[in-house]
Amino acid sequence: TEEELYCIGCGAKIQTEDKTLRGYTPASALAKGLESGQVLCQRCFRLRHYNQLEKVFATDDEFLAMLDSIGEEKALVVKVVDIFDVYGSMIPGLHRFVGNNPVLMVGNKVDVLPRSIKPSRIKHWMMKQARVAGLRPIDAMLVSGKKATNIDDLLEMIEKYREGRDVYVVGVTNVGKSTIMNQIIKAATGNKEDIITTSRFPGTTLDQIRIPLDDGTFLIDTPGIIHHHQIAHVLSEKDLNLVSPQKELKPVTYQLNPGQTLFLGGIARFDYISGERASFTCYFNNDLKIHRTKLENASAFYEKHKGGLLQPPNEKDSPSFPDLVKREYMVKEPSDIVFSGLGWIAVHKPGKIAAWVPEGVDAVIRESII
Ligand code: GDP
Repeated sequence: TEEELYCIGCGAKIQTEDKTLRGYTPASALAKGLESGQVLCQRCFRLRHYNQLEKVFATDDEFLAMLDSIGEEKALVVKVVDIFDVYGSMIPGLHRFVGNNPVLMVGNKVDVLPRSIKPSRIKHWMMKQARVAGLRPIDAMLVSGKKATNIDDLLEMIEKYREGRDVYVVGVTNVGKSTIMNQIIKAATGNKEDIITTSRFPGTTLDQIRIPLDDGTFLIDTPGIIHHHQIAHVLSEKDLNLVSPQKELKPVTYQLNPGQTLFLGGIARFDYISGERASFTCYFNNDLKIHRTKLENASAFYEKHKGGLLQPPNEKDSPSFPDLVKREYMVKEPSDIVFSGLGWIAVHKPGKIAAWVPEGVDAVIRESII
């Protein structure tokens, strides 16, 4: 019976119920597998036959156990972050786990950066955030998993820093780690079959994808951990697509008087509280509708129009959408107010402003990157 079957690839117990869990096999595929005597879970099947990597999720405990063992080995740690949500991409406590191992920061989604922004400024910001999180990265690189930008350079950089050691690729979910890994696999294997092996991490139930490197060491993909502070967790998938930066961002500039508010759909809000009339440049996905209104009525306006005029959230999800939480900033020098996972507003003149974000999602201020 089903209960006694194990995947010959990764050793997971075969099950046909839940796609998101280990060992999932569609019932039809299971029947075929039994006929041929080769039962593979869907993930191993795709990996073996199409060199297609699927995600694995880990529970917090499993994840910590895995991180813990990375610290005990000599390895290069490649940390993937989303450049639109560097803060939400940080793995809490990672610095304690990597031990003395070097960390290479990889910022994903460079394809969406407006041309007017120098990648070096983003790299600088990423390194800074990593240091705030207690990491001491040896270097940083910007890539696009989607467009396969800089993947060869990334492989070269990895080669340079790994010094014959194993390489662990880590990242929270939604940063694009799977997309990057698939590009790496493509580049590294030239679509040869059976290059990749899956293996279980000793002492845990975790799967790791191990890609053999020339010298007998491995490039190891690790499961993603869910970071609950990401915007992805407060939106439906469709809404998330509306707001996630997809194509090159086209900045839009607003002239605002103090006492004016901008709504970013119904997801976030920006108040210009005091200062001179000034311009504010918005860097968001082009599909995100920005609505200007008066600050004094803004809260009432929001209550009335959330899920309607102000979308996302859509009407159905609106009642359960978290309340917006306010953060005030005194801006002294040109700065960006970053709405995690969404984009940012460049503030060019001194003044007092407020950023409102869904409870649990972050806003941060940084030195202007222009
Ligand atoms: P993972 O959870 O870290 O493995 O993330 P995925 O690889 O599943 O990617 C998460 C989302 O980001 C998906 O909607 C991808 O299409 C998108 N994505 C991944 N890489 C890129 C990229 O380089 N540029 C853009 N614009 N989107 C990307």
